Order: sequence, then C-alpha cells, then structure tokens
Amino acid sequence: MSANLKVETEMSSAEWQARCDLAALYRICDHFGWTDILATHMSVRVPGEPNHFLINHYEEMFHEITASSLIKMDLDGKVIGRQGRFNKAGFTIHSAIYKARADANCAMHTHTRAGAGAAMLKGGLRPISQDAMQVYDELAYHEYGMPATQEECDALGVSCQKGSCVVLFNHGLLTFAPTVHGALQSLYMLERACELELISRTLGEPPVMIDEAVVGKMGSVMKKARADHRYGLHEWNALVRLVESKGGTDFRS
Ligand SMILES: [Zn+2]
Repeated sequence: MSANLKVETEMSSAEWQARCDLAALYRICDHFGWTDILATHMSVRVPGEPNHFLINHYEEMFHEITASSLIKMDLDGKVIGRQGRFNKAGFTIHSAIYKARADANCAMHTHTRAGAGAAMLKGGLRPISQDAMQVYDELAYHEYGMPATQEECDALGVSCQKGSCVVLFNHGLLTFAPTVHGALQSLYMLERACELELISRTLGEPPVMIDEAVVGKMGSVMKKARADHRYGLHEWNALVRLVESKGGTDFRS
C-alpha cells in the first residue's frame, strides 16, 4: 500500500475531502502569487472534530502541497498522526481563530505586497472602491504583537471577534469563514481592496467618496450574501478547474 493510500484509509472521508480542498486552496493561492517562500499559511478545521485542524507541512511550497502532506494538529499544538514540522507563528494564528470563532472552518493568511502595504496605513482601508465594499462591513484591525506567543494568540482571538476580514497592522491579511470557498472569496476581495487603496494614494488627488447610505446598504447586502454557505462557491469551482488545467490533479494525492 502506498503512503498516500494508507493516509486516506486511516481517516474519515470528510477529512480526506477537507484535505483535498485545502491542497486545492494552496494551489489557487500559488496561482494568484499569494506566496512568501515558506511563510504564510492556510488551514481548515477537520469536519466533525472541532479541536483539530489541518495546515501545511512547513517545508513545502504552496505548489508542492498535497492532501496527504498536510499536518493535522489540535488546538494545543500537538501534531496528530503522521508527524511533521509546522510554522509556530502559523499555529498561533490559526488556533487563535478556531478557539475564538466556532463559526470559522477555514482561515487564510497572506503577506502580499498589497496586503502588507495597506497594513502599514494608520487609517486603514476606506470604502472607495467596489472591491472594498465587498469586505468593508467585516473589516477588523489587529495591532502588531510578538509572533508565536500566547499573548499574541489571545489578542488575535479578541480581534477576530470584531470581523472576519482582518488587517494585521505591519504584517499582512487574514480572512476566515465557515467554508473554504467563503474564506477565499473574502481574501480575494480584501486583496483587491488593498491594491486599489494603494493605487488611490498614488493618484495625486482625493478619491471620489461613495455615499455613506450606499456604504451602509452594501454592508447589509454583503452580510446576507456571506450568511449563505454558497458564498464564493461558483468562483471556487472555477478556480479548482483552473488549477486542474494548469497542473493536473496531483494535489489530491
Ligand atoms: Zn504572517
């Protein structure tokens, strides 16, 4: 029996599907260029096991990650089953979210130039673009703290209560959602909002502002959209087809 088949037969079919989805998510992030060599990480909570989540094996780049290479951990930092290295700062971030938010089943974290750039802005993001309107109602901000510490884990848990699209000051971006496709859709729009915020600041004149009443109404519309578990599903299916067309289906191994 191959190592991959052995992994597959020793777990629930729901966990195997979650592994395949998370591996696909890493390939999608690689496609968008949301990489930072071995830093940054995405995770999913294991279905039916609220205290366990899956995260990348620290030695692999996003395009190398497969369903069976992912590490399974508990919320106290113990690796379950097949052993492997994990990013300690990554454990701090993802365990903080899963402890603080019972509704989160997927979390994504990036250090893109646009995201880390916008994370240096004291005033944060403004509701000045259609992309920003997609995330504005869920925006939260988190002060920079010492990575990989219990204090940071606790502080991030508090920040994550304020919104699911989090700008980590002086660091990067973070989104989480009940579904993998929901977390991806939020991060995609947050990344785009950051790009446009930075572009706006280079234009040499103030942006046209969107009417406050429209901003408020859009917030209500987006809250309703995100409450639907199909939020981002069509985009997800399209992007899975894209990564399959680029590199086959080896991420499911
Ligand atoms: Zn980071």
